[in-house]
Amino acid sequence: MTARLQGGCHCGAQRFSAPAPESVTQCNCSICSKRGTLAAYYAPEQVELSLSPEVLGAYQWGDRMMTFHHCMACGCGAFDETPAWTTDEGEARPARIILNARLFDELDLAAVPVRIVNGRNA
Ligand SMILES: [Zn+2]
Repeated sequence: MTARLQGGCHCGAQRFSAPAPESVTQCNCSICSKRGTLAAYYAPEQVELSLSPEVLGAYQWGDRMMTFHHCMACGCGAFDETPAWTTDEGEARPARIILNARLFDELDLAAVPVRIVNGRNA
């Protein structure tokens, strides 16, 4: 069985666990570059969230497809959610939870392949 990794924001209010990511995504779109996150994509059932809703912030912009969650106590961008959706070409995309891989407690990010996505010009 693959070991699950624990992670969370700096103050510990928002915690999560998930399987170790096989790769992480660095995107240069306006929000990803400003938040500085490395994205690890999961099916919702793969992720266990242990959250403190009273200090969990949510941010949406543009088409409001994605919700970006951050900890209001310590400021870390923690995870994002996207519902199932269909592309303009009619391609079905499943719901995803996107964890900020920088928040895993013990993950050697230097050993994880980084996928670069040109979200700015997508
Ligand atoms: Zn926090």
